[in-house]
Formats: sequence, C-alpha cells, structure tokens
Amino acid sequence: MANQQQNTAFYLKYRPQSLDEIIGQTSVKKILLSAFGQQRLAHAYLFVGPRGTGKTSTARILAKMVNCESLESSDKSLEGQKSRFSTLATSHYPCNKCSICLSITDGSNLDLIEIDAASNRGIEDIRFLRENIKLSPSGAGKRVYIIDEVHMLTTEAFNALLKTLEEPPGHALFILATTEVSKIPQTILSRVQRLDFKLATQAELLEALNKVVKTEKIDIDEEGLKSIVKKADGSFRDGIKFLDQVSSIGGKITSQLIAENLKFSQFDDLLDTLSSLASKDIKKSLLNLLNQLQEGFDAKELLFSYMEQMRNLMFIKNGLGEALVKPHLIEEKYQNLIKLAEQFTSQDLIRNLDILQNALSKLKFTSIPSLPLELAVVEICADSPSSILESPPSIIDHPSSNSDSSDLSKIKEKWTYICETIRPYNFSLEALLRSISIKEVTDTLVLIEAPYSFHQRILEAPKNRDLLESILSDILGRKIKISAVLGSRPQRKEDIANIEVAADDEIIRAAAEIFNSDSVN
Ligand SMILES: [Zn+2]
Repeated sequence: MANQQQNTAFYLKYRPQSLDEIIGQTSVKKILLSAFGQQRLAHAYLFVGPRGTGKTSTARILAKMVNCESLESSDKSLEGQKSRFSTLATSHYPCNKCSICLSITDGSNLDLIEIDAASNRGIEDIRFLRENIKLSPSGAGKRVYIIDEVHMLTTEAFNALLKTLEEPPGHALFILATTEVSKIPQTILSRVQRLDFKLATQAELLEALNKVVKTEKIDIDEEGLKSIVKKADGSFRDGIKFLDQVSSIGGKITSQLIAENLKFSQFDDLLDTLSSLASKDIKKSLLNLLNQLQEGFDAKELLFSYMEQMRNLMFIKNGLGEALVKPHLIEEKYQNLIKLAEQFTSQDLIRNLDILQNALSKLKFTSIPSLPLELAVVEICADSPSSILESPPSIIDHPSSNSDSSDLSKIKEKWTYICETIRPYNFSLEALLRSISIKEVTDTLVLIEAPYSFHQRILEAPKNRDLLESILSDILGRKIKISAVLGSRPQRKEDIANIEVAADDEIIRAAAEIFNSDSVN
C-alpha cells in the first residue's frame, strides 16, 4: 500500500511542467510552439496517441501557456523590443510560479475545466460545459476545456460537444484527448486540429528516467534501468511508476530484483485479459494468457490473480467496492476495475469464479501446469447454455400495452450501470433505485413505481430527476421524462427490513423514520 501511494506522488512529482520537459513528441511541440509564438493557436485540438505519451500533461501546459501571468506580461513588454529579444523560445515557458500556474498545477484553477469522459461518459459534464461555455474566463487569458478519453462520450454528449465546437467563443480553448481516434465521429474530427503523440523511444525514456535516478539518488545499475525502460513500452508514466516501485524496495536495485518485482505490477495486462474474457474473445484471451505465461508468470499465480480480480469485480458489482476493494488499491486501479465491472454481468462473474475455482483444484493433477487455466479461459469464453439475462431482483416487470418491452429490458439490463453512474453523485438516490420498479416505458416517459412516499419525494427532487432523466435519455437514445407514482408497499414497519436499500444502516434508519411518520398520518 505504502509503495503504491508513493507511486502516485512520484509520478506527479515528475509530471512535465513545460513543453521542453515532455519526452519526445518533437513535431507536436514544434507545431504548438510555433502557433503560440504567432498567436495562432487553434480553438480546438485533438491529441491522439497511446496512453502515457504526455497528452494530458501537454494539455495542462498549454493551459498554463495561454494563462500564465508572467508569460502574458513578458509578451506585452516584448512588443516594443522584439529585436532585443529575438528568440521567442524563453517566452514560451510558463513560469510555474504565478498564482495561475500554481492553481493549474494543483487543480484548483477555475479557467481550466477537465472532463474525464471515461469515468461517466460525460453526460452531466457536457451539459455543464454547454452552460459554462458562455462564461468569460476569470483572468485575462482563456478558458481551457480538456476532455480526456473523448472517444468514450455517448452520442448525445458528442452532439452537445459538436454544437459547442461549431460556434466556439473566442475565449475558449478545447483540447480533446483520445487513445482511440477511430471512435471519434468525423463531424468532430473536421472541427479540430489533430496532433499525434507517439510512444517514446527507448533512448528517450532512458534519458528521462536517468534524470529522475540522479535527482532521487536511486542506486540502480544500468541493466536494471534498461529493463525498466523495456517494460515501460514507450510510456513515461509506466516507466516512472516501475522505477518508483522498485526504488521503494531500498538498497541496490539490480535487473534481477526488477524482474522479480515487476511480475506483480502487470495490472494492466491482467485487466486487458479480464476485459477480453468479458467480451468472450477466446483468441485474444488465450493469447494474453500465453503472453503472460511467456513473461514468466507462474500458472498458479496467474490463476490466483484472475480469481482475486474477478472477486473484486463481484464486490464492485454488488455495491461493496467502496468498502472491500477500494481500500486495497490505488485510485487509478480502482477506477479501472469499476470500468471493467461494467463489462461483466453478475451471472458471468459468479460462473467465472466457479470455473476458476475448478481449475485450481485440477492444478495439482496435471502434467502441464498451464493447462487447467487455459481450459478455464476457453470455458469462460464459451457461451453458457443457461445464460440468463441479468435482471436485478427489485425491478418488477409490469407488462402493459403501452410499454415498449425492449426499452424496458434495455433499462433492466443497464440497471447496474445506472446505479453505478448515479452513485458518485448521490449515494442515497442510488440506494433508493434498488427498491423501486419500472412500471411503464413510453416514447417520452418512464413511469417509476416507488413503495413509499418519501421515495417519490426523493425521485421528484429536481436535481435527482435531472440526473436520472439524463441517464435514461442517454440509454434509450431519446428525451425521457420520469414520473414517480406510489405503488404497493410492505404492509407493516417490520417489513422495512426487506426493502433492498443496499446495506446501509443509515438509509434504512432514515427510511424507518420517515415510514413511521407516514403511517402516523
Ligand atoms: Zn505563470
């Protein structure tokens, strides 16, 4: 744990603060510097490239360049004396000392709006952005909007973004970043300037990591550093995390020590495999597994890793992620698991854990140690004959002539997604959603039946209503309003314990209180 927390700090500590500190990316830097020098920055950029290549760092630096107080004043003072300061280069570096630079570094700057489309697909954020876009920046510079993982946006959010990009206000600078440019609609592509980020070469990474080694006085031999560079696969972020991880062991760091420790840090590879298992892609899953075995993973160790993460996913899926999974992982890993959980149904997770458990028991009888795991992977990917569509028990199907049954099943299918999307915004709403039923779905309306009037009141609250409506609209692909009606409810207050309001004592207590007052009336 301590190591992992240190990782984050270490990575943040060496986050580039000016364009010259970005590793590689010569052409990107050249284009941006030249545009900035001529005051001809585009109003919207699309940064394309693999993860860990500096897209977000570059975006934040650009935000500093257009807003830094010192840069601004030096530009003004330069106007009359261009001959004396013939080189523009020095005036391109944000000072990283003024209040604006510092507030961008610590994430508190009001003119820098960062949206992570991966974490909530941007429904609320794009709406916020559209409302926010008209506002002028608080300082003299620009309002900068960074939308990371922009390919994850929903169609609705893309359309909203497009409208904004069609008529961008002069004070706005948009920086979209993506690892998957093929998923960006052509309409967006035609309105942005695309810049391609490439993986760093081994020499570039070696040089960059060497600087860190010297500054931190890390005792590592050249072979060791080279093996980290190799493992980092062109990503400075991965490289510095590996370096941090092994440096926290203490003592002289050798390539052998690194080999032993990096085995356990292949979390992304593991997630990749689990993701291919979720999509039941036999070929990809097997190839991933074989790669991991080839990299020296022990079959039993791998099997344990699969089981451990499947178990974590099951906890997350059942609303216990915060309590049981989050405390043991760094935030980034936890967020990745939450995303991954979306790809599995609860049924699949239970089935997969069962299959892996069986593989474990076969392990000691096999002459080929990897065989039980390979077979388990194939079995997980094979379609289960009794595959049940995931359907939360609390959603009761009320067939009605008006309701569109495919819309109803669409909502049911996505119910866990809906709950988990709402959870970060409003825990009690999410808990409440576990005890209501969808009565009817029409072209414009989702009719919700709530067992208690306080449920109804919570659902009718404008903020909750907006949130739920925007998510449902997004899922059904059309404008949806919700209406909450009072339905049948448990007869007596002792039945309150049967309401499936997550496992949260406080909410149950609150429900009991309100219920009591209701029954008095
Ligand atoms: Zn500054």
